Amino acid sequence: MEEVRTRFAPSPTGYLHIGGLRTALYAYLFAKKNGGKFILRIEDTDRERYVPGSVEIIYSTLKDAGLIYDEGPDVGGDYGPYIQSERKNAYLEYAKKLVENGHAYYCFCTKERLEQLHESGATKYDKHCASLSKEEVEMRLKRGDSYVIRQNIPENGSTTYTDMVFGDITVDNKELEDNILIKSDGMPTYNFANVVDDHLMGINYVIRGVEYLSSTPKYNLLYDGLGWERPHYIHLQPIMRDATHKLSKRYGDASYEDFIKKGFLKEAIVNYIALLGWSSKDNTEKFTLNELIDKFDLSGVSRSPSIFDEQKMRYINSLYVKEMSEEAFHDYAMKFYPLYDYLKGYDLRLLSTLLHSRTEVFTDIGKLTEFLTHFDGYDLNLFVNAKWKTDIGTAGDMLSGLIELTQNDFADLHDALIAYGEKNGYKKGQVLWIYRIALTGAQSTPGGAVEMAQLLGQSESVRRLKCSLERVRNE
Ligand code: GLU
Repeated sequence: MEEVRTRFAPSPTGYLHIGGLRTALYAYLFAKKNGGKFILRIEDTDRERYVPGSVEIIYSTLKDAGLIYDEGPDVGGDYGPYIQSERKNAYLEYAKKLVENGHAYYCFCTKERLEQLHESGATKYDKHCASLSKEEVEMRLKRGDSYVIRQNIPENGSTTYTDMVFGDITVDNKELEDNILIKSDGMPTYNFANVVDDHLMGINYVIRGVEYLSSTPKYNLLYDGLGWERPHYIHLQPIMRDATHKLSKRYGDASYEDFIKKGFLKEAIVNYIALLGWSSKDNTEKFTLNELIDKFDLSGVSRSPSIFDEQKMRYINSLYVKEMSEEAFHDYAMKFYPLYDYLKGYDLRLLSTLLHSRTEVFTDIGKLTEFLTHFDGYDLNLFVNAKWKTDIGTAGDMLSGLIELTQNDFADLHDALIAYGEKNGYKKGQVLWIYRIALTGAQSTPGGAVEMAQLLGQSESVRRLKCSLERVRNE
C-alpha cells in the first residue's frame, strides 16, 4: 500500500471550533493508524473572511491537542508552501491544461448577463461561452477582456465515486454547474484549489465535512481531466448543537480554547470529540490519543450527525481528573485558583486534596468553594436534616459547646466532637451535621466538618460558629 497522506485544510476564519478539531482528529488518526503522514494546509484564498491571528490559533490548538502534523506552514515539508495564498502560480497553469483538453473554457460573460440569466429563472450557468470558437477566444484574450475559467461539465451521463463512509455516490451531470475555477483576478476558487493542492501534496485520503459530498463528483472530473489519480474520500457528518442546529462558530458554540478555559483537560476534549461521529466496536468510551490511533477504524464512523453533549464531556473529563495524581491535580488547579480572589490566604494544598474527588471540570472549584465567601445570611433551615432529626433548635442547643471545644481542642477536633456527642446524648452524625452547617452555611462542601474547620483555620472557625449561634438565638 502506498503511504497514506491525509490533510486538515482549515480556513483561517476565527477560533478552531469543535467540528473543525474533530475533522483534524480523524484525519490525524487515520494517517497515524496506517503509518502515514498528517498534513496541515491553510486555505486562506478568501481574504474577506480572514481573521487575523486565527492561523496561530490553528497551530497552537493542534499542537496542544497532540495532533502533531508532519508537514505544515510552520514546520515545513517537501510539498510546500502549505499556505494556499502562497501557491497562486500553480493553479492557472493547470486550468489552461483543462482548457486545452476540453474540460474547461474561458468565459467572458459580464456581470449584467449573468444577472439577467439569473433573473430569467436559470438555476445555473448556461454554457454560453463553452461554444466560443478558438479564434474568438484568442482575440478576446489578446484584447484584454476580463475572463474567468469555468469547468466544462458533460451535459449528459452521471458521475459516481465511492465514499468510504457513505458508499457509492452518484450525481447526474445535469445537476452540476460549470463552476468557476479561476476568478477574474487570477485567483483559484476553493473548487479548483482543493483539487490541485491535494494532488500536488500527494493527498490520497481526503477527510472533510459532508457538505462536500455532493460536489466531489465535480472534483473527480477535474482529477480525470488532468489525468490524475482520484483520492479516496471520507466525508463526515456534522456535529449538532441540537436536533436541528449545527454546532457552529456563528452561534458562539465553544471552541477548543473555551473548553480549556472552562477547566476541561485536553485529553478529555480529544477523547470526547473522537466519540462525536465514531464509536469503537466494544463501545469503550475512554481512550488516550494512542489508544485512539490503535482503535480508530472507518467502520465505526457514523453516517448520521451526532449531538454535542457537554454533560457527557464533563463525565469523560471527570474520569481523567480522577486519574490524576494529587500532585498533578494540584498543579493544574493552581491555574484556576487565581480566578477566585477569596481563595487568597487559604491552604491551597489542603484545598486541592479536598477538591480532587469532587471536581469534574476545574471551574467547579468556584461552586465548590463558594461557601468561603458567601457565609453571611445563609438559610438557617439547612440545620433541618430529616435523616439525623436535627433542626434549628438542635443547633441552638449544641453551638455553645461546639464553640468551646473548637477553642480548646482544635488539634484533636474529630475526637473532641465525638466525645461531645457521647457526653451529651447526640449521635455522631447529628453533631457533624450541625457543626458543618454552622461552619460553612452550605448544603454541600468539599469535605466533612473537620476538614472544613481545618481549611478555615481555628480563629475563622470560631468566628463563624459564634456568628451562627447569634443568628440561631435571634431566630
Ligand atoms: N477550507 C475548507 C473548509 O474549511 C476545507 C474543506 C476540505 O477539507 O476540503 O471547509
